[in-house]
Amino acid sequence: MPAPATSGPADADAVVVGAGPVGLLLAGDLAAHGVRVLVVEQLARPMTESRASTLHSRTMEVLAERGVLDRLGPLPNGGPGHFGGIRLDLAEADPGHRHAGQWKCPQTRLEAVLQERAVELGARIRRGRRLVDLADRGDRVLVETVTAGRTADDAEGGTEGGTRERMTGSYVVGCDGWQSTVRTAAGFEFAGRGPAREMLRADVAGIDIPARRFERLEHGLATAHHWPDGTTRVMVHVYGAEPRTRAGAPEFDEVVQAWALVTGEDIGHGTPLWLNAFDDTRRQVTRYRRGRILLAGDAAHAQMPVGGQALNLGLQDAAALGGRLAERLAGRAGDEVLDDYHDERHPVGARTLTNIQAQSALLLGGPEIEPLREVFAELMRFPAVRRRLARMITGLGLPRTTVAPPPATAPAQPPHSPTTEKDRTSTMGKLADKTALVTGSSRGIGRATAQRLAAEGALVAVHYAANESAARETIELIEKDGGRAFGVRAELGVPGDVHELFLGLERGLKERTGTTTLDIIVNNAAVTTPTGVQPEDVTPEEFDRLFAVNAKAPFFIVQRALPLLAEGGRIINISSGLTRVANPDQVAYSMTKGAIEQITLHFARHLAPRGITVNSVAPGITNNGGPVFDIPEAVAQMAQLSAFKRVGEAVDVADVVTFLATHEARWITGAFIDASGGTLLG
Ligand code: NAP
Repeated sequence: MPAPATSGPADADAVVVGAGPVGLLLAGDLAAHGVRVLVVEQLARPMTESRASTLHSRTMEVLAERGVLDRLGPLPNGGPGHFGGIRLDLAEADPGHRHAGQWKCPQTRLEAVLQERAVELGARIRRGRRLVDLADRGDRVLVETVTAGRTADDAEGGTEGGTRERMTGSYVVGCDGWQSTVRTAAGFEFAGRGPAREMLRADVAGIDIPARRFERLEHGLATAHHWPDGTTRVMVHVYGAEPRTRAGAPEFDEVVQAWALVTGEDIGHGTPLWLNAFDDTRRQVTRYRRGRILLAGDAAHAQMPVGGQALNLGLQDAAALGGRLAERLAGRAGDEVLDDYHDERHPVGARTLTNIQAQSALLLGGPEIEPLREVFAELMRFPAVRRRLARMITGLGLPRTTVAPPPATAPAQPPHSPTTEKDRTSTMGKLADKTALVTGSSRGIGRATAQRLAAEGALVAVHYAANESAARETIELIEKDGGRAFGVRAELGVPGDVHELFLGLERGLKERTGTTTLDIIVNNAAVTTPTGVQPEDVTPEEFDRLFAVNAKAPFFIVQRALPLLAEGGRIINISSGLTRVANPDQVAYSMTKGAIEQITLHFARHLAPRGITVNSVAPGITNNGGPVFDIPEAVAQMAQLSAFKRVGEAVDVADVVTFLATHEARWITGAFIDASGGTLLG
């Protein structure tokens, strides 16, 4: 047995106990930050039993930020949810959200993908070892394990008591579920109350009973769900029945009797494939940290698994902890960063436990609860009530962690090397987690737009045609302000233009976010007719060039972006006030802007089912840094056209575009927005 390191570096920076979804997500996050992680798990092999798990919007964001959703592939929508068995469409939390509603993913699949990610990022996973003791020695934690040799399938059997092994970790995180050994061994106070009600669950083959969804019958509650493989999941609760103390799973006979009592149906001839009981225990540790030992997931809180909230709460705990623990380990923050984790997640846990308890009362209460259910159902007819409850369950109403998610790929820097990367600290503006393409953002209105979108937290692709140094300057300005951007070069209006643009765009997005999802497109790049060119002088070549850059390219950019565009995405086309007033010098240019307004109109309708808005913004004369704006007389003359008697600044337009990109503008689509400072007022 190797002796643990009691001086010098610990065996691992972080020992994570438990390789369920919470432990594996945390391990991946820590490893992504360069932390040496060791995961200890008593099951020799991953669980094989798993039906669908429910993932809520906030958890989907967490998984998307880490590239895990891409790995999982498309997930089926879980349909509307419920609150205490009363129908509640969780998409109402934020109908425009990219992951509005709830999503289904088998837990085995989620675990497999999280494990694959954690291992790729450098986490070590030791299975078949059960934690028996641990001791916080002040500078490290001593962890003692024994060979467990258990699998989920022989959970109560299996050999045990083999080799003892000790190891040390600078920190230990218990992600070992509601019966957490870490919690007990470290002496956490687990406050709350024990079970008052219990629900029996079974997957049964060979029965043919009607499907039921949270049916409250005379003697109890019954749910029957048919799985695609022909088996049936039954869940039953007998009103007023005391929870039993039992060593393992309930007997099938118990389920059969309860089911018969509540529904009058006999399922005794069926074959039970899986039996389980859960209750409405409500407990939560009073602190999520004791010295160098922390808890996440069910280890920190026990609750009835209503509507999948337990798993989501746990995954969100892990997401809130990884970055902070990495900061602490790298010496970039003190213990206060770990207390921040407690301060953020304890109230969230308490609130979730309260809503679960309320749901449990509504769901499992006997006839005495009926008046309350009636009043509650009446209240739930109000959209504001439904939205509030949906936000509570989906996690969208919760404060967001102030530490940025880890990069989706392995860290470039060696573990613990100091980093000054700005993108590790979040800006958390209105467009946090969004990605944007701004064409022609090396200068002028495009640059100002890229800066404003980035200031709101978006990762911006700064596109340009040829002026690389100007594009680099835009990126530097964004980064100086703590934002994130990358450059994409592609000349528009030439064959292969859109293809080249998306090659660079997709590569840039993938490297930084792990996905190619695009939230915002600003079609800004354009060429103008040289001044003084009369309509008589416009050549077919010049006309074609104007249309190729200003109209054809934006159309095909939108078309090419369709599969990348997120639900609730935004397309903003930069038009011109010249589509509303006559200026013969600019007839050909204005025609191209008329065309881009048609993109707005028709795509607005086409993309509305996906919650994507499409709008046109029409600037008037706007200072784009061009030489004419250095001539005071010319500027004074141009200023007379605006009701405000000044020329527009690029940021005047950029602010309007940025507003259209936010959630607040979700109800505007197909619109022509004049941003000309009242030029059209006459
Ligand atoms: P600008 O300063 O002239 O900048 C044009 C941008 O578009 C640059 O980033 C340029 O990239 C890019 N670009 C030009 N031709 C391109 C091509 N063929 N392929 C790819 N990129 C190309 O523009 P602006 O004056 O700010 O105007 C921005 C938008 O507002 C345009 O749609 C324009 O029609 C509209 N608008 C402007 C005004 C105004 O007074 N400024 C008024 C009404 C409407 P490089 O730097 O690499 O050349």
